[in-house]
Amino acid sequence: MAGINRPPNMEQYILDHLAEALEQDHIKVYVQPVVRTLTRQVCGLEALARWQDPAYGLLMPGEFIPVLEKHRLIHRLDTYVLRKVCENYSSSKKQFNVPVSINLSRLDYELCDIFEVVDAAVRANKMPRSNLCIEITESTLASNESLMRQYIDRFRSAGYSVWMDDFGSGYSTLNVLKDYLFDELKIDMRFLSDFHTRSKKILSSIVHMAKEIGIQTLAEGVETEEQFLFLRSIGCEKVQGYLFGKPMPYDECQDHVANAGMTWEPPKLRRYYDDIGRLDVLSPSPFRSESKRSVSITGRELNSIPLAIVELNGDSAQMLYSNQAFDETASAVDWPLLWCQNNEPTVIPISRISQRLQKLLEDAKTEGEGKLLSVYDNEYYEMRAHRLARHKDICSVLMNVTNLSQMSAMASQQQLDDGLRSLYSVYELVLLINLNDRTVVSLHMDRESDHELPTGSLLVWIEEYVRQRVFPDDQERFMRFICPETMEARAALSGSISTYLRVLSYHGAYDWKSFQLVRIRENIYYLLIHSAENEVLELKSAYRYQKYADDAITSELLWENVVNRADLKFFWKDRERRFVGVSQSFLNYYSIPSLSEIVGKTDEDMGWHIHNDPYRDEEWKVLREGITSRNVVGHCLVQGEDLEIVATKMPLFSRDGKIVGLIGTFDQTDTSANAKGSLKQARTDNLTGLLNSRGVYEDLYAYIDEYELRERDFAQIDIAIDDFEDINARYGYDFGDAVIRETGRALLRCCGNTATVGRVSGCYYTVLHQFEDAKELDTLIARIRQIPAEIKQIDGVPFSIYLSVGMALYSETKNRESMSAQAELRRMTDDVENVSLRQLIENTGRIFQMFDDLPVSYAVYKIINGKDGGDAIVLYANKKFLKMADLTPEKLIGKRVSSFFMLSASNWFEMAEQAGIEGKSVTGCFHDVYTKRDINITAYPVIGPGFCAFTFQIVMS
Ligand code: C2E
Ligand code: MG
Ligand code: MG
Repeated sequence: MAGINRPPNMEQYILDHLAEALEQDHIKVYVQPVVRTLTRQVCGLEALARWQDPAYGLLMPGEFIPVLEKHRLIHRLDTYVLRKVCENYSSSKKQFNVPVSINLSRLDYELCDIFEVVDAAVRANKMPRSNLCIEITESTLASNESLMRQYIDRFRSAGYSVWMDDFGSGYSTLNVLKDYLFDELKIDMRFLSDFHTRSKKILSSIVHMAKEIGIQTLAEGVETEEQFLFLRSIGCEKVQGYLFGKPMPYDECQDHVANAGMTWEPPKLRRYYDDIGRLDVLSPSPFRSESKRSVSITGRELNSIPLAIVELNGDSAQMLYSNQAFDETASAVDWPLLWCQNNEPTVIPISRISQRLQKLLEDAKTEGEGKLLSVYDNEYYEMRAHRLARHKDICSVLMNVTNLSQMSAMASQQQLDDGLRSLYSVYELVLLINLNDRTVVSLHMDRESDHELPTGSLLVWIEEYVRQRVFPDDQERFMRFICPETMEARAALSGSISTYLRVLSYHGAYDWKSFQLVRIRENIYYLLIHSAENEVLELKSAYRYQKYADDAITSELLWENVVNRADLKFFWKDRERRFVGVSQSFLNYYSIPSLSEIVGKTDEDMGWHIHNDPYRDEEWKVLREGITSRNVVGHCLVQGEDLEIVATKMPLFSRDGKIVGLIGTFDQTDTSANAKGSLKQARTDNLTGLLNSRGVYEDLYAYIDEYELRERDFAQIDIAIDDFEDINARYGYDFGDAVIRETGRALLRCCGNTATVGRVSGCYYTVLHQFEDAKELDTLIARIRQIPAEIKQIDGVPFSIYLSVGMALYSETKNRESMSAQAELRRMTDDVENVSLRQLIENTGRIFQMFDDLPVSYAVYKIINGKDGGDAIVLYANKKFLKMADLTPEKLIGKRVSSFFMLSASNWFEMAEQAGIEGKSVTGCFHDVYTKRDINITAYPVIGPGFCAFTFQIVMS
């Protein structure tokens, strides 16, 4: 503790000085590096509070936190730390790009809605939620179980990681893991402080148990290299402790990391290393996936199975991990000596590895698996490789060596594995069917049969498989073959049941496959499937012609083929112009996933024409007058783009000649077809596949036409990815591109067939949407605003994006340019709490500094689109103004005018608009209802469009 003596009543001193300490930044946020054991890179920071007291020097958390908790003031400290962490993220730009964890106290959950507080701070700083972690201690959980469960849920589903701090320091720890969902365990430092066999065993089993339930592990208080190596050897993923750095001020951290010869983990590899970390190196069967992992703990006595992890990165390779057993066996398998000599990760060029080993690693990288046999000292060794994780060109592979000569002594598990492996080489798909609980588990699938691996309910799998993959004519036979009710009885007769069926293969055609059910024991079967193209040559012809021998093409067959397979876009509708059915090709054209999304709807319901009337009128003619309408040209929104199509529609007659509906076909016109070609290129944005600015501009004219002709209103919605430059700077341009692509995809999903969607430049998108009523438009905008909540990761990296949205109606100004300007302005001022606003306020304050002492009240505003119409934000107010309004700067600057002034009480906003948008100076007078004073006001244009300044003078009466 600092050398200055504490007063007898330190508690009172802390209480009396908290406010001052917070206000004057005596509270400091220190950070301590968190290091990934596999790479020794800094992959995180923990924020820890320090109180730098002017009278008593440095106070440690142990001194002031209990006091603040006792007096229920702790949330003031914690929200302060939180705010500093978030602000540090947004101001430190490229520097701290690893997640920071904060400690929350039990009382925070009771004293405020801590989730809202956290999320608001994160939003305000546009921080990806994955960059903040919440630490919760065990005692916190005990205080209020259901409340805590809700909070943990809320944090996690919003995208924050939630960590359990000081695991093992309390009593009920095991239950805690059962009852709450955590992302990571921070293992208490007491296990390291007395570091001997017993605590090593406890640590090993904690790490193993955590992996078993999918939780990451971090050990606190690592002070020695020996502790570090041990933790690494048992697969503990992260460590934190004096060995890598004490808690230190933020600004010192960057230098500390550099001076200590460490590096920062690139954010895009975070997920990749987390994936590797999931491997349990202490498991007796590390090669098998989680669902099949045995729960037995034999062989757990530290690493008896030789294991290593190798990372391939372009032309080089490095060994991230190996256990002792592996090192001992390594010479038997051409293992580069270099790798076995020290424990530091050593990078070597791939060319220095033996050819055989190279091939093995390559197999694992591309195929997921590989194996290699070698003979050494008259013993046979098998080396197996298994891909653990991959990010672009980087890939990590788990290696395992088995001495086959000693195999007989090994557990039967291994033999079973071998048995299975020989099955796998023959069959495309091997499933384990259990009739007792009616489940199916897939044991093996070769790469070519690229369908989902079934696991779960047998009946669900059967239903999906038959519908999606079995040739219609063979479906009945398949159902008889797979029927669970009769399987036992049938198998009792023959022991094995088999059949041949045609199954959809990855290249889109139906291939003959052999299906075989092998009974292992009562109610347990293997289902083995392999290609039978050769075996059934004869069968094939028999099956194909037997059924249709004398009636090759039935009308039923024809209809089925025309609707499902022919390249004809057609549809039929009832007498109310509602869709009844459409061909598959029609669905494909619009990317509509299923018929149910369209049946019962009219064109207007679908919202896919900018000009609705031509088609509507034509259809009524068909239905009411029986006239066939031929080759009518119209426009239609397809995947965010307005295309020209030509449609033909004719009445559908019942048997007795009544019109019961209509049937229509359509296709793109030549211009549109061309547009698909070279013109399309000119209109398309390569990165996202959306329209580019030219495309949007061209579509815009179709909307304007429709407005002029039929007064059908439409909206321009401008969307921007917030702080995009920052994303590029921090994560690289590749990642920035991925963010742009993902956002474009999301936009297309929400409004592709009802609106024009384009990327006009950089991170800016424009949506044009024609609407019938305001509600529909609101729904669309609400869906767009939902996008950030839907995007949880980009390119496999957990990430959050923020969007600003601004909307303007064409009818507001009836002018293309003004509409665009309005939409843009509203977009720019969409989020009043954002970082750019803070900067704007700072800049404005600087520019107008010279007005501070002006004897006239003077304020500068930014015009925005408020909740109930126009509003403005105060960017600057001089002293005289503050006095007149009787408000402090905190209450005024950055706030919406409507929050302290009744806009409707005057024509204030109209004046602001005239000055800020039209660029005129205007004067007026209004009566302040509160102070009963008349005030003369003048509005001036300042800075640029969207900004204005006001002067106010009280009229003396
Ligand atoms: P914690 O969250 O478990 O933090 C880890 C503590 O271990 C820190 O103590 C850190 O300095 C210390 N430590 C880290 N590495 C080593 C090491 O190698 N050896 C040893 N002997 N100690 C190490 P600190 O900073 O004194 O914090 C103590 C506790 O106070 C924290 O335990 C945390 O529970 C609480 N705390 C700190 N800051 C805050 C805060 O802002 N809010 C709340 N609610 N609690 C906080
Ligand atoms: Mg902590
Ligand atoms: Mg701790």
